[in-house]
Amino acid sequence: MGIPLRQQMKVGAYVLKQHMLGRKRYPLVLMLEPLFKCNLACSGCGKIDYPDPILNKRLSVEECLQAVDETGVPVVAIAGGEPLLHKEMPQIVEGILKRGKVVILCTNALLLEKRIEQYKPHPNFTWDIHLDGDKDQHDWAVSQKGVYDRAVAALKDAKRRGFRVAINATLFNNAEPERMAKFFDDVTAMGVDAIMVSPGYAYERAPDQQHFLNRRKTKELFRGIFARGKGKGWKMGNSSLFLDFLAGNQTYNCTPWGNPTRNIFGWQRPCYLLGEGYAKSFKELMETTDWDKYGVGNYEKCADCMVHSGFEASAVIDSIKHPVKAMARQMRGPKTEGEMAPEIDLSNQRKADFVFSRHVEQTMAELKHEPKQKPVRGAKHGGTPAVAAE
Ligand code: SF4
Repeated sequence: MGIPLRQQMKVGAYVLKQHMLGRKRYPLVLMLEPLFKCNLACSGCGKIDYPDPILNKRLSVEECLQAVDETGVPVVAIAGGEPLLHKEMPQIVEGILKRGKVVILCTNALLLEKRIEQYKPHPNFTWDIHLDGDKDQHDWAVSQKGVYDRAVAALKDAKRRGFRVAINATLFNNAEPERMAKFFDDVTAMGVDAIMVSPGYAYERAPDQQHFLNRRKTKELFRGIFARGKGKGWKMGNSSLFLDFLAGNQTYNCTPWGNPTRNIFGWQRPCYLLGEGYAKSFKELMETTDWDKYGVGNYEKCADCMVHSGFEASAVIDSIKHPVKAMARQMRGPKTEGEMAPEIDLSNQRKADFVFSRHVEQTMAELKHEPKQKPVRGAKHGGTPAVAAE
């Protein structure tokens, strides 16, 4: 198990409290994207083609901490863009840790060795390094040779310095179970504290649309991987029921409000993956989003989604409601044989609405009237890794 006991207890106590308060919808993990700029340009990234004025914009320390306070979540995942390009990232991390939250800082690790002195190990802090597979697989996924070697060197350096280090792997349809299992063996041997996995989401703006997984293929792929992992001691960083869901054994509706996303546009509707409008505050997001319009079976863009940011919260809530089932999966691992759980009916889903350019145009118009922020140096663009939710 790659999730520290204190984190499990913290999240469990928080979820129980929400249930006792009778809250129907509540957030679990804040997805904080303080900037979109990145020093990679991954072909599967949905944030790759924003205009430069948007890529140069970032949330201030105050805006980030206000977002944490608005949600009251126990866990904050910082993504982007590449968070280490944000000059005030150490202050953002420190401010969130001071609030007693768990911080998962997602990074492609290209700047990690250079910036690591600005951070200190903390029991609630995890470096979450983006690694989508072995050397060839990862370099293909990030569209640049040599990135795997640099990320692994940074990972080992962070471990040596006493940090907790996870990897997160986003899987595409060219992933092979045998090869992924070998990769998980390799990172386990490197001493990673958690392996977080998720299938890629088919971002409508990603340049490469050919390599995203559909639901059936996702389930077969994860069954193939998990079958090879039995008894290997992989420390998985996702909840046991989310892994069981990936292996096709649970039918879950997504919980998009479980991982609310705050980025430079505001509070993203309805989830981390889809940007179909923005609210000015977390309260407005929760109260004015028409949640029933989204999710598998409700909306065409959701049809193939099995991503952690939509379904990990569903699995965590199920774990609290059915602890014996969760414990059994924890001890035995995901079921990798037999019939799969029923799939959600897609016949009544509404058609996709293509809304991307509206918020970009609006933000560009607003930026014309804002005082200029200093551009972030040394970056191209794109690249948001997956982040586990528990
Ligand atoms: S299924 Fe849920 S989490 Fe996935 S894209 Fe749709 S709304 Fe977002």
